[in-house]
Amino acid sequence: MSDRGQRLGQLREALPGAEIDGLVVSAPSNIFYLSGFRGSSGALLVTKDRCMLFSDFRYRLQAKEQAPDFDFVEVPRRLLAAVGEAAVAAGVGRLGYDPSHLSCELRDQLGEGGGGVALSPTPGLVEEMRARKSEEEIELIRAAAALADQALAHMAKLLRPGTTEREIALEGEFQMRREGAEAASFDVIVASGPRSALPHAETTDRALEPGDAVVIDIGARFSGYCSDMTRTFVLEPASEEMRGVYEVVYQAQRAAAAGVQAGALCGDVDGIARGIIEDAGHGDDFGHGLGHGVGIDVHEAPRLGKGEETPLAAGNVVTVEPGIYIEGKGGARLEDLLAVFQHGSDVLTGTPMPSELPVV
Ligand code: ZN
Ligand code: ZN
Repeated sequence: MSDRGQRLGQLREALPGAEIDGLVVSAPSNIFYLSGFRGSSGALLVTKDRCMLFSDFRYRLQAKEQAPDFDFVEVPRRLLAAVGEAAVAAGVGRLGYDPSHLSCELRDQLGEGGGGVALSPTPGLVEEMRARKSEEEIELIRAAAALADQALAHMAKLLRPGTTEREIALEGEFQMRREGAEAASFDVIVASGPRSALPHAETTDRALEPGDAVVIDIGARFSGYCSDMTRTFVLEPASEEMRGVYEVVYQAQRAAAAGVQAGALCGDVDGIARGIIEDAGHGDDFGHGLGHGVGIDVHEAPRLGKGEETPLAAGNVVTVEPGIYIEGKGGARLEDLLAVFQHGSDVLTGTPMPSELPVV
């Protein structure tokens, strides 16, 4: 059976446990995961014996091609009302929907179409399935990671005083697209000098200067799957402080990555990196979680953060990305992408991670 056939079977088996007999799927990434459909507008209705894809005329052909296992229903307007009506016709008594992916307006529409059907908020059912990737999915993510690897090699050649962040980011995006990426999986981040202390910096027209730290965070999307990687460089002359900061981040990254395996609690893996950074006196300078799942979305389950009690599971694909950010001076972050196995993990990122700050 295909990956998608198995997923549908698994979802159907999960319906009784969630006390529903049908599920409306409205998040585009969940729709893609279950059906293969990649249109920008649509919804699925999955019951124990029916799979329907609702969209409009624009997607008639695409839906049939991408989602052959689903019955296509063409809806000119008020898509969710049509889903509700179909649920009534299918004899659904309790209909689940994901409250984080359905606006109040659309939920009202669903209720109007599905008169008599009980609507039941059912968050995270598909996201939980998505967190455990198949081998095929892991290979797509590995291919996406390889696209970012080759792009970063091109970007590194531009690291010299006078080049702007934007020029470097564009080079990365161009190289990924040229080699087959559908897109960057998020806007490429090139953060230089004091701006490298911003964990989620926007790329600007700032020109690089001698002594700048440069944090590059980049990912590609390939066949619907994302990658995510960060490396930190410095333009000479490198300060002793930046060298020291980098080393701590490196130790934290390596130690936490070594702790990634099925059964390890997400919060404990975060704690490995956080402990090392705290011991080095930089606890306050690492204000974000250690990592996140990556798949169809660049941020998905599970979340690796302080106190997270979810255990890692075989098939999870997660980032391990500690960082230290010192206001006014600069920062360092190192991020690899790992596939979790029963015993240990496989690093999907191909770009080497030097143990000492790379000075260019
Ligand atoms: Zn990243
Ligand atoms: Zn990330």
